[in-house]
Amino acid sequence: MTVQISTMALHNRVSRRELKERVLLDPTPRTTLSFYSYFRISDPAGFRDQLFRDLSQFGVFGRIYVAEEGINAQMSVPTENLESFRSYLYSIEGLDGVRLNIAVNDDGKSFYVLDIKVRNKIVADGIDDPDFNMDRKGQYVNAEQFNQLTADPDTVVIDMRNHYEFEVGHFEKAIEIPSDTFREQLPMAAGMMEADKDRNIIMYCTGGIRCEKASAYMLHKGFRNVFHLEGGIINYTNEVKSKGLDNKFHGKNFVFDQRLGERITDEVIACCHQCGQPADTHVNCVNDACHLLFIQCDECKEKMEGCCSQECLDFIHLPEEEQREKRAGIDKGRNVFNKSRSRSPRHSGDGSA
Ligand SMILES: [Zn+2]
Ligand SMILES: [Zn+2]
Repeated sequence: MTVQISTMALHNRVSRRELKERVLLDPTPRTTLSFYSYFRISDPAGFRDQLFRDLSQFGVFGRIYVAEEGINAQMSVPTENLESFRSYLYSIEGLDGVRLNIAVNDDGKSFYVLDIKVRNKIVADGIDDPDFNMDRKGQYVNAEQFNQLTADPDTVVIDMRNHYEFEVGHFEKAIEIPSDTFREQLPMAAGMMEADKDRNIIMYCTGGIRCEKASAYMLHKGFRNVFHLEGGIINYTNEVKSKGLDNKFHGKNFVFDQRLGERITDEVIACCHQCGQPADTHVNCVNDACHLLFIQCDECKEKMEGCCSQECLDFIHLPEEEQREKRAGIDKGRNVFNKSRSRSPRHSGDGSA
């Protein structure tokens, strides 16, 4: 508790902007990494306080969520402390041997404070069944096992990501669960597979955290042979490269950073939402009052000046004063174009992660 109070005082004295500047100027090499684990934490607030005290000694920054069902963390660790940090994590019951996903092509300056929050869930699932918990999960498969299992025609492969992620890249034979929210997808997946309770079901997502929960949900719903891809597409891609395996993923892996996607194969499997020609570059509409996430080819980008619609193109050419007035009071929330709901990228999407 004392540590909590002193950091709060620190935050009051030093603004976040100053903290950020300090990190940027600090020459200490840092590594960005992420990890998650589902395990029972009976007292999340107490766990959080202890974790905060312990982690402070490693000079780490990051954003960590703690819930009764487990922990989800994204962190920046001084590279010289990486091994001692790892040993510390492994000393915690439930985190022994936890996979640390190390970010590549990263300067490590991803965070500049340590923020640990208690949440109801580490992944919002909308499940209100009190009998559901994460004690029983599907079996992990690595890249090699994934390839073997999916070669069997009787195996069903389920993509547990959102529509716009599936659209630009996915595994061979993968079934899309057509919703933009994970909480909607869970019952939908179980419903769609109702007749296949004895088949092998493999679920996957970007980094593993969503499909691990989905695998537990499917078992809870009476499915028997449920697997999930360990470490998700990110780890699969690394494994395929390092072990020289066949790559069953086509297209781009959508990621939530400035790149909005990591190319895995040269195939372009999606189309421009404006002209329909092959394209798989996600952009946000340049009109700040819109910011719609959609796929736009280079030609349309030039012609439409980065806008999603004529309406937005007209808007950005209004005098700045007028734009500001019109923007006030617009709550755009999270604006995502969903092809399965609308044919043209206008302001129709309302998805959320
Ligand atoms: Zn186009
Ligand atoms: Zn727009």
